[in-house]
Amino acid sequence: MTTPAEPRGLAKAVADRLLKAKRLNALLTPARELRQALEAQAKGAHPSGVLYGMPVAVKDNICTLEFTTTCGSKILEGYRSPYEATVVTKLKAAGALIAGKTNCDEFAMGSSTEHSAYGRTYHPLEKARVPGGSSGGSAALVAAGAVPAALGSDTGGSVRQPASFCGVVGIKPTYGRVSRYGLVAFGSSLDQIGVFGRSVHDAARVLSVISGRDPRDSTCENRDPLRLPTVPESLQGFVIGIPREYFPPDLDPGVRRACERAIRLLKELGAAVREVSLPHTPYAIPTYYIIAPAEASSNLARYDGVRYGPRFNGAADVRALYRSTRGEGFGPEVRRRILVGTYVLSSGYYEAYYRKAQQVRALIAQDFRHVFDRGVDLVFTPTAPSPAFKAGEKLDDPVAMYLADIFTVTANLSGLPAMSLPIGRVKGLPVGGQFIGQAFMEDDMIEAAYALERAVPATEEA
Ligand code: GLN
Repeated sequence: MTTPAEPRGLAKAVADRLLKAKRLNALLTPARELRQALEAQAKGAHPSGVLYGMPVAVKDNICTLEFTTTCGSKILEGYRSPYEATVVTKLKAAGALIAGKTNCDEFAMGSSTEHSAYGRTYHPLEKARVPGGSSGGSAALVAAGAVPAALGSDTGGSVRQPASFCGVVGIKPTYGRVSRYGLVAFGSSLDQIGVFGRSVHDAARVLSVISGRDPRDSTCENRDPLRLPTVPESLQGFVIGIPREYFPPDLDPGVRRACERAIRLLKELGAAVREVSLPHTPYAIPTYYIIAPAEASSNLARYDGVRYGPRFNGAADVRALYRSTRGEGFGPEVRRRILVGTYVLSSGYYEAYYRKAQQVRALIAQDFRHVFDRGVDLVFTPTAPSPAFKAGEKLDDPVAMYLADIFTVTANLSGLPAMSLPIGRVKGLPVGGQFIGQAFMEDDMIEAAYALERAVPATEEA
């Protein structure tokens, strides 16, 4: 983009590109703040860093010092974190420039980026459609070419599903591969920070920079950063499982065609392809939508108008303060999750819902173990049951919205790495294919994705 000697030119070029994408409402950072922050970072950036000069946009639920962190919520309007996330520190140390904060569903709850207090993000190809969610701002900016890579968070598919809708690559690492320090908690046992890129390589190299041990997060594994595989000549020796439960009769016909074409290409590349079964898949959505709200209701108890963000005034006592702050500060979807979560955790219902969901979660993870124990290296599936849907289409029907996550929540419930890459178009709209890998075997998944990416006509109709 520019030579290391011109940090100012670099900062300006990055800001100009981002501001050109303004029509998408994908970036929450105001222009002036962005310019200043980019200039300051470019001056200090390490010219020998492996990501020197690379702008990386960051979802607004990841804490930064230069920018506010609102999580797309009114309850954190204007909030500035006193510390930054480990992933952000690692990106800067590698020479990357943090290119502002991206729009998202409030507290990462949603599948369309329509649940943001700051307005919806538009699909980069068709304004009437959604970019997916909850990391829709990050996906849209990468798809529009404003930044080569961006960070998102994936609790139930929020990196992979918007990557699929926008036609970019999205990787969710194994639970524990990347530090969650400074990621605003939603469902702590499911959350991982993930990466968007224009190509498998861009996403993978950013992932390798942010991965690895962090003494500040005890759930982050004590491992070296991910080492990137090389682009393989063929997929000889790979066994790829196709789970029949991920191809239900009501799957969008265009998505099915794109997946079938991708499977043919995987075979041509030399992989052995086998049909497999993950029998507990039908229970994944109800299980996820008990566990995620339960954890959210506990994590979101801290927003009380005392410790973070604005306080909604006029309260006579402390209870009234909580009530007015939380009542006015949280949007309808977040309130719904807190209510559901509190309900499933309350005495009398805990056994019937929460404990049962944990038991089913174990069965879903066991399904994958069985398949991997029988010699399968990777599973291949559609990322989402349809291409990008229209704005407003599912907004009044939460269950329809939840069903958009049917193929992605299983990897979070099992802690496994998974990624989406573009495998074709349906009526001009991108379709993603998903690989799910074995724990801490991101390298296998990335290797297969490198090969498929080169073979698949990703921007052609399937
Ligand atoms: N769409 C899912 C939900 O609403 C997943 C969200 C996410 O991964 N952050 O919970």
